[in-house]
Amino acid sequence: MSEHMTPEEFRAHGKRVVDWIADYLTRVESYPVRSPSRPGEVRAALPGHPPEHGEPFDAVLADLEHTILPGVTHWQHPSFFAYFPCSSSGPGILGDLLSAGLGVQGMVWATSPACTELETVVVDWLAELLGLPTGFRTDSAGGGVIQDSASSASLVALLAALHRASGGKIATEGITGRYTVYVSSQTHSSLEKAGRIVGIGSNNVRVVEADPDTLAMDPAQLRALIGADVAAGAVPAMVCATVGTTSTTAIDPVAALGEVCREYGAWLHVDAAYAGVAAVCPELRWINEGVHEYADSYVTNPHKWLLTNFDCTVLWLADREPMIDALAILPEYLRNSATESGEVIDYRDWQVPLGRRFRALKLWSVLRWYGAEGLRAHIRRGVALAAEFADLVRADADFALLEHHPLGLVCFRPRWPGLSDADAGAATMAVLERLNDSGELYLSHTKVRGEVWLRLAIGGPATERGHVLDALAAIRRFTRAVRDGRS
Ligand SMILES: *Cc1c(COP(=O)(O)O)cnc(C)c1O
Repeated sequence: MSEHMTPEEFRAHGKRVVDWIADYLTRVESYPVRSPSRPGEVRAALPGHPPEHGEPFDAVLADLEHTILPGVTHWQHPSFFAYFPCSSSGPGILGDLLSAGLGVQGMVWATSPACTELETVVVDWLAELLGLPTGFRTDSAGGGVIQDSASSASLVALLAALHRASGGKIATEGITGRYTVYVSSQTHSSLEKAGRIVGIGSNNVRVVEADPDTLAMDPAQLRALIGADVAAGAVPAMVCATVGTTSTTAIDPVAALGEVCREYGAWLHVDAAYAGVAAVCPELRWINEGVHEYADSYVTNPHKWLLTNFDCTVLWLADREPMIDALAILPEYLRNSATESGEVIDYRDWQVPLGRRFRALKLWSVLRWYGAEGLRAHIRRGVALAAEFADLVRADADFALLEHHPLGLVCFRPRWPGLSDADAGAATMAVLERLNDSGELYLSHTKVRGEVWLRLAIGGPATERGHVLDALAAIRRFTRAVRDGRS
C-alpha cells in the first residue's frame, strides 16, 4: 500500500467516491440537519497516531461513513435554513474535482495561462450577469478576481484604500498617521478583523449608527463622524457599505454614502457577500443602486447563493492599480518574460497569498450548466419561498415578523405576551435549541433592537415548498411546547 495510487486504482476508487457523493446527496434528508456530535466526540473516535503502513482507500470511506458523517452538519440538507445558504451543485462539485485533478497552482500567468485567463473570462461574465458597472471589467481600468472568502476580499480592498489614502506610503513605511474606516453597527465582523490585520486597530474602525427602522447606515451620521475625525487629524481611508447585512439583509444607501466618500476622498467598498448574486435577476438589481456611480470595490460570494460550492468569492475593483501597487512584490524566482511583457495578469498581486487554486473551473461549470436563465430561476424560487413563508408568519398572531425581507432571508420571532425583553429572548432561544436539537431543520438567530429574532434563510437547490411549510409547522410545534413548559 506504500505505492502511489495507480491511474487504474484511481479510476476505480474515484467512481466509488462519485457514487458515494451522489448517494449522499440523495439520502441527505435522512440525517439530522445539525450534527448532534458533542465536543471531542469525533476526535476521540479517531486514532491518536498516524498509520505507519498505508491503508486501503476503502478504509477511509468506511471511516467517513461511520466516524466522520455523524460529526457533519448537513449544509446541503433541504431544511438547512441557518446562517446563509452555502449552496452547492453537481456542476460546482465536478468543477472543483477537475481543479483538484489538474492540481494547478496558478500564482502567476506563466504557471498556467488558462488558470488566469479563464478566471478573467468568468469574472467578466459574472459582472455582466449581475449588471455591474462596465468599469469592473478587465478590459477597463478595473477588474475582478476570485478569492477564498469575502473576508479576504474586504482585507484586500482595505489595503488598496489605505494605499490610495496614503499616497502609496503605507506599502513602504507602514501606517504612520491615523487612518480610519467606517462601518455600521450591522457591518460584518470581517471589516473589524481587516482593520486589526492591517494594523489601524479596532478603534479606528469607526461604527456609524444604523437607522433604527431600516438598520441601514445613516449617511448623516457618517458625515458627522468623518467630519469630527478629520477635524481631529484622521484620514478617512474607506467606508464599507453593505448590500444585504448578515443579520437581516438590510441595505445601506450606497449612493448617499458614496456622496460622503467623494467629499472626503474615501474609498467606497461594497460588501454584498450574500445578496450580490441576486442581481442576476433584473427585477432585483435595485439592490445595487449607487454602485455604478460610487463603488471603488465590490464583493459577492457565489459560494453562498449561486450554487458554487465553497470557496468562491469574487472581488471587483473600479481601478486595479492601487491594489496592485499595494501588493506587488517581484522576487527573482518569480521573474518571467510574460510578467515582464506587461501583457498578462498575475492574480497573486490581487490577493493576500501567493498561491491560488483553479477556482474558475467550478464557477465556469456552474455558469455554463445553468445559464443565466437557470441562475435566475434558482434565485427567484428562493425569493418566492421566503415571501410565502413571511406571509404565513405575518398572518399568525403568535409571531412577529421583520417586514424587511427582500431576498431569501426572513427574520421573525414568537410573541411572548407579558414577558420582559430578556425573558422573551430566553424563551425564543429555548425554541431555537429545541428546533435545532430535533434535527428536522436548522435555523440561526440574531438580535435586533435588543430583541432575539429567528432567521430562516432559503437558498439551497434542494429546498422545496414542502420543506418550508414543514419548517413552519415545526416552529409552531416547538413554540407551543416552550409556552406550555413555562405555564
Ligand atoms: C457571509 C458574509 C461575509 C463573510 O463571508 P466569508 O466569505 O465567509 O468571509 C461578509 N459580509 C457579509 C455581508 C456576509 O453576509
